[in-house]
Amino acid sequence: TPPTDCPPDVEDLGRSTWTFLHTLSANYPSRATSTQQTEMRQFLTLFSRLYPCWTCAEDFRTWMGTRGNEPRVEGREGLGRWMCEAHNEVNRKLGKREFECARWEERWRSGWRDGRCD
Ligand code: FAD
Repeated sequence: TPPTDCPPDVEDLGRSTWTFLHTLSANYPSRATSTQQTEMRQFLTLFSRLYPCWTCAEDFRTWMGTRGNEPRVEGREGLGRWMCEAHNEVNRKLGKREFECARWEERWRSGWRDGRCD
């Protein structure tokens, strides 16, 4: 395994960033105030402009800007599902398996029902 004190490649950066984005969704209020909704929308817009893998960022922006793919910021459930769909879009592009979005909360919030995260 390579040393860990080197700059991240696109894969390492991606894994860390998805951990952050899904954890962000998992800790979003179940019913967000209008201020929280505005801030989340602004965060995602800025994220999609600043993410330091430029082709990744551009594709993400294009997907986010397509009708039907707008961020769902009303609350945790919607945002978590939306983030899962965004991640699945990248998974499809890279030929990776799609994740079953009904289970995003088990993966990123509660831990799996089989108790392996307890
Ligand atoms: P990752 O895809 O990083 O996933 C990490 C973990 O998340 C998985 O092990 C799984 O437990 C869980 N997971 C998987 N899918 C989902 C889902 N849909 N919902 C919830 N949890 C899930 N790489 C490129 O090469 N080209 C790109 O254009 C590109 N665009 C990206 C755009 C963004 C916004 C981000 C954050 C990353 C992008 N990446 C891109 C990186 C890529 O998505 C992966 O992070 C990287 O290839 C490492 O993949 P991985 O197999 O380790 O798992």
